[in-house]
This record gives sequence, structure tokens and C-alpha cells, in this order.
Amino acid sequence: MVSHLYSGGSVTASAHPPPGVESVLESSPDALLVIAEDGTVRLVNAAAERMFGYSREELVGQDHRMLLAEGFRSGFHRLFFALRRDAESGSAAGAGSTADTTPATPSFSPVEAYGVRRDGSEFQGEVACSLLVRDTDGGPMSMTVAVRDTSHRLAADAGLREALSLLSATLESTADGILVVGGDGRIASVNNQFVSMWGVPRELLATQDDDAVMGFVMDQLAEPAQFVEKIAALYADPEAESHDVLDFLDGRTFERYSRPQKVADRVVGRVWSFRDVTPAKVAQDRIAQAMSDLAEQAAQLKALAFQDPLTGLSNRQLFNDRLEAALRGPGGTAVDVLLLDLDDFKEVNDILGHHAGDQLLIEVGRRLRECVRPDDVVARLGGDEFVVLLAGSLAPDAVAGRIVASLRVPLWIDGTMLRPSLSLGLASIKEDAVGASELLRRADIAMYAAKAAGKNRYLRFRPEMMKSLVERTELEAGLRLAVDAGEIAVHYQPIVSTRSGVVVKVEALARWERDGGIVPPAQFIPAAERSGLIVEIGTEVLLKGCTELAPWLAEDSARALAVNVSGVQLQHGDFAELLLAVARNTGVKPRQLVVEVTESVFFHDDCHVIQQLTALRNAGVRVALDDFGTGFSSLGRLQGLPVDTLKIDQSFTSMIRTGDEKLPILSCMVAMAHGLGLTVTAEGVETEAQAEYLMKLDCDSLQGFLFSRPTGGPDLQPAIARSNEAFTALQRERIAGLR
Ligand code: C2E
Ligand code: CA
Ligand code: CA
Repeated sequence: MVSHLYSGGSVTASAHPPPGVESVLESSPDALLVIAEDGTVRLVNAAAERMFGYSREELVGQDHRMLLAEGFRSGFHRLFFALRRDAESGSAAGAGSTADTTPATPSFSPVEAYGVRRDGSEFQGEVACSLLVRDTDGGPMSMTVAVRDTSHRLAADAGLREALSLLSATLESTADGILVVGGDGRIASVNNQFVSMWGVPRELLATQDDDAVMGFVMDQLAEPAQFVEKIAALYADPEAESHDVLDFLDGRTFERYSRPQKVADRVVGRVWSFRDVTPAKVAQDRIAQAMSDLAEQAAQLKALAFQDPLTGLSNRQLFNDRLEAALRGPGGTAVDVLLLDLDDFKEVNDILGHHAGDQLLIEVGRRLRECVRPDDVVARLGGDEFVVLLAGSLAPDAVAGRIVASLRVPLWIDGTMLRPSLSLGLASIKEDAVGASELLRRADIAMYAAKAAGKNRYLRFRPEMMKSLVERTELEAGLRLAVDAGEIAVHYQPIVSTRSGVVVKVEALARWERDGGIVPPAQFIPAAERSGLIVEIGTEVLLKGCTELAPWLAEDSARALAVNVSGVQLQHGDFAELLLAVARNTGVKPRQLVVEVTESVFFHDDCHVIQQLTALRNAGVRVALDDFGTGFSSLGRLQGLPVDTLKIDQSFTSMIRTGDEKLPILSCMVAMAHGLGLTVTAEGVETEAQAEYLMKLDCDSLQGFLFSRPTGGPDLQPAIARSNEAFTALQRERIAGLR
């Protein structure tokens, strides 16, 4: 009776072993123990007493773990449950066929473990377990454990032990985690590094439950499915070696190597080695990131170096490079340069401010891009100057026309409607091979010709344009000589007062008497303004005007002389003092002088201009706003300007044709000026219909060819008489018309 022999008396076994079995068990050289489900020792044999150094009475009823070395104490429960699981599935399978047969006893192949003797010494042993099926009285299940001391094996082959220890020392000293899997697919061994790298609990490894270990490993991977696939592929091909990288959910990265384990050319398993390359990977990633950041910055810098920051278009340097490249291209390829400059851009900047100016430039850039193919170069050369480069274009003229038209579409900036316009010069390479700078120069000449021809247009370069350029340069040189030689003369144009019906004012207009002919001011005033010569010319006109007209002015204090003064004159030096000194020296009263300025003089940053005009007005001189209604003038800004008279530009007068049309803008201008206490002069009156219309609007004065053209001083008296007569005739007709 096994139970009687070995138990502490608490358990009654009803199964009778065959005769002799008890003595067989008792005489077994292996230690045998029966351990209950709760881990207590139920039975032991004599070999167990010898092996552990405890008496039977001391062992039975104690926790079995007292017999196991540290690190091996928790395996029992897992083994037990695994065995029971196997037993249950096995008995279920066999139940139907052999009802009264004892089911096959589940067991595991022996495992290595360390035991502890009573004296504390440890020994290595081989442990085999099997389930002791449930007693018929339904008592708890137990496990039979056979332990064999294997210390002799180590002693038997000291050489092998040394080799093994060397190997294991090597394995343990390597930074790699190593896992060896046997030919049966079960874990054969691991090194400490593997355990700590993967964080596998020792207890879990001790259970030899490979599925549990595998599950533990998989749970840490970012892409476990991929790993499973690789493992499957490797097991399908036992000879294969492989290498890859595993990414962990926690951000770590392992390098993985796997190669077959061979004994004499026979594959007996597989060795997996893992290396934690996280720091290297992090460093590598950082370097890669830094490199890509650098590359991006370099690309940005490069782009910036060739980009106009305001419009995002190419800059001059990129344009030059691309032009050179286009000219080096295959012979016979058309290369066209379209150089363009906004008309009156300065006024937008002066009047609406730099912000509006910038907005306009951005919009122009956008429109230019829309007019060309994506590969064509559009560059801003600076200021309001742009250039378009076409290579291999079949219709450069059509592109130029499209650009001019597209710019005329109105746009709104800060609540003001603008209709930008531009002058464009087009130069192309045909048969004659010219260099980049020559091509650009030709486009520039054509652009100036377009400006001179009235702006808002494009002109293709023609060799004759060179001539006018030369003329222009000659003109500028000649003007200086003319000023020194006293060739600047003054003509006067009468201005009729609609109140008194006679000429009470004349406007002095500069003339250049050149080679017996007369150069009109439109041709030389802009050049004079550019070169600064206008200061001398303006002074000359003022001096001559005052000197020549002093007698006429002296006859009637209501008479006045108007002189044109450009912004350049007002900006530099003390113009007010100069004018008052001239008046004093020529005996003309300041009240009898009018300075005509254009609106743009008020929009320069410095307040010097305003100071000059204010000083003049304080001395009695009157100020007229010339060419009102052109450019970017605004009625809204009139208020507060140091101005006495508004001169409505000729372009408005010319809108009156029959005299029957409705021109609200004209009546509005006159009413507004009167509302602000200003007098109104209409310029460019050429027909009676215009004069009548303007008189109906209550204009204060009229000026124009209808009364008289500008004439030289000696012819002024008859011109004034003719003007008076013309006005009288006009009034006669009006009265007749009223009757
Ligand atoms: P502005 O000050 O508007 O002068 C009026 C211009 O209109 C004059 O042209 C005059 O001849 C012209 N005009 C007058 N009545 C009529 C008409 O009924 N029909 C037409 N079609 N034209 C008419 P001008 O003398 O050729 O002067 C042109 C411009 O040159 C002037 O325009 C003025 O801006 C500038 N200018 C002339 N003399 C001087 C000067 O001494 N100093 C400055 N800074 N500018 C001057
Ligand atoms: Ca004028
Ligand atoms: Ca004018």
C-alpha cells in the first residue's frame, strides 16, 4: 500500500499496487515524490530522503519549494496545470472507446533543475514529472516527480564541462541576446542577455512553455505578424540564414540574425541572436533628420538666392543665368526678352503708400505668370521693372499683347481701384547672334520707345529706335548748353475770367528755341527734371516772366502771372524765398503770382514742400493744383491742401463734344472745389460748346486755344485782345441763345 508506506497517514489510497511494487518504489535509485495540487509533499521514497537529507516525516506535508534552488521554485504550478490540461484533453478523446481503461498518463520529458539539500548545498538534477490520476474517492490530483542527481555527469566529463563553461561564459559576455531553438522547435537555451533584453521572466522560461515565451516576445513587437511570417519562412528552410531589424512598440530597435545550428553538417536547431541597436538607430535617425533638414535649408537658401522676396518671381541673377543658357541652346531656337516697366508706379507709391505699391507689384507678378507657360522665366529686376524670357516661343508678339491687356484689368487695393498699365519692349534673336546684354539693351530701348509713344503698349525693337535714343542723349546734353546759352524762352497763354469777362491771368510756359525752331516742353521738361536742370530752367522762366510781364501786371492789381513749378524745385533749397526775392526785384506783388503744382508734390515723405507752399501763401502767393483728374488724383484728398485753385485737366474738357452730354464727374469736381473754397480753371478749352458747358457748371476761368495759343511776350497784347473778343462773342451768343 503505497499510501501506508509513504504517507504521513492523512491520505488513504484505495488502489492496490501489484505485489512487490512498494519495495520496487522504495528501492528505486531515483528520488520519488508525490506532490499535491497545493504544492505540499504527500509521499517520498527512501532515495528522496537520502538525496535531500530530510526524513520522510520532515518532508511530508511541507511545501515542495524548500527542495528547489532559487530560480526554480515557481515551475511546479505551471507544469502541473499543463499536465492536467493534457490529461483532460487526452481522457476526453479516449472516453468513448475504452470506458474503463486508465487514460495515458501525461508527462514531460525531463528538465534540468537545481535542488537544495537540508544542509543548504545545491546540486544539479534531472526532474521528470507525470500526473498521478485522481484517486477514485475524488481526492485532489497529484504529480509524481522523479529526481535524479546528475552531478556525476559533470564530474564524468570535466573537459566537456570546461568547454561548456567557456562557451557559456562567452555567450554570457556577449552583448547579444542569444536563443537556441532545438530541432523540435522548443527553446533549447538562452543567455542572460537574451532574458534581460526581452525582459522574459526566468520563471516563464523555466516552465518550458515555449508558446507562452513566444507570446511574451510577440507582444512587444511593433509588427508581430511580419515576424511570425519570417519565422515560418525560416523553419520551412532550415538551412537559411537571415538578418533583419525588429521594431519594438516602446521605440527600441533590435537587429536580428538567425542561422542554423549544425552538428557535423546536420541541422539540429537554429540560433537566434539579437542586438539592441536602439542608440545607434536613434543616432542614425538624428543624423538622417539633420541631413534632411540641412538639405531642405540649403534648398531654401538656394531658392531665396534666386528669388525676388516680394513677388516670389525669379530675380535678376537667375534671369541672367537662364538667358545665358537659352542663348547657348541649340542654334535656331527663338529667344525673346520682354522687358516691362509699370507706368506711373511712383504715383501709386507716393499717393497710396508703399503697402499698396507692394500689393500692386505682387498682383502684376501674378498676372505675368498667368500670361506665360510654366517653364518661361518671369523675373523682377527691381522696383517696378519686370522681364519675361521666352525660349522657343512661336508667338512672342501675342504674349506681349496678352501681357499689356491683362494688366489693364482693374484691381482694388486698400479700397482704391487701380488700372495699372505698363510699357513693354520686346527684343528677339533672329538670324543675328547677339549676346545677352545686347538683347536686354534692345528690349530696354524698345521699352523706352513704348513709354515715349504714350505708354500702355508694347513695341518690338527696331534699329531706328537707336536713333531716338541717341537723340534723347543728345537732347539732354544739348539742354545744359541751352540753359547756359539762354536759349530757354517763355511763352504766355491768356486765361479768361468768366466773372469779369476779360483776361486777368496768363500762364508762363517754357520754350526751347533751338536752331531757329521751338522744342515743346513735353520733350525737354522730363529730361530737365531727371537731370535737375529744371531748377535753373524754372528760375529762368520765373525771372523772365516777372520781368516781361511786370508792366502788364502793374496796370491792374487783379491781374496775375502763373508759373509751373515742379516737385524737384520745391524739394531742394528755399524756393519760397527765391520766388519772393524775384518778385521784389522785378516789382511784382506776391499776390499777383500763382504757382502751379501737380498733386504728386504733396505726397513726398518730407513736409518741406508743404512748408514752402505755406510760406508762399502766407506772403500772398496763390497755389493752383495743375492737371487735376489725371494720374491717381482723388477728390477726397483735396481737403486740407494748401491750394487756392483747381485746374481741371484738358482730358476732362475734351470729354465735352456736343455740349449735351451728361458728365457728372465734371460737375462733381467743380462743386466739390467750390465747396472747399477753391476757384476752378478749365484747361484745354478748344470749342465754344466746351466753353459754354464749363460756364454752365460755373467754372471761374477758362484757358485754351479757343481764346489763344501760348505766344511770345511781344505778341501777348494782341493775344489778350483776341481772347477778350472771343469771350465777348461767346457771351453775345449765349444771350442770343437765351432770347
Ligand atoms: P501745363 O502746365 O498743363 O500747361 C498747359 C499745356 O497745355 C501747355 O502745353 C499748353 O500749350 C497746352 N494747351 C493750352 N491750351 C490748350 C488747348 O486748348 N488744346 C491743347 N491741345 N493744348 C493746350 P505746353 O506749353 O506744351 O506745356 C506742356 C507742359 O510742360 C505743361 O503743361 C507743364 O506741365 C510743362 N511746363 C511748361 N513750362 C514749364 C515750366 O516752366 N516749368 C515746369 N516745371 N513745367 C513746365
Ligand atoms: Ca500749368
Ligand atoms: Ca495743366
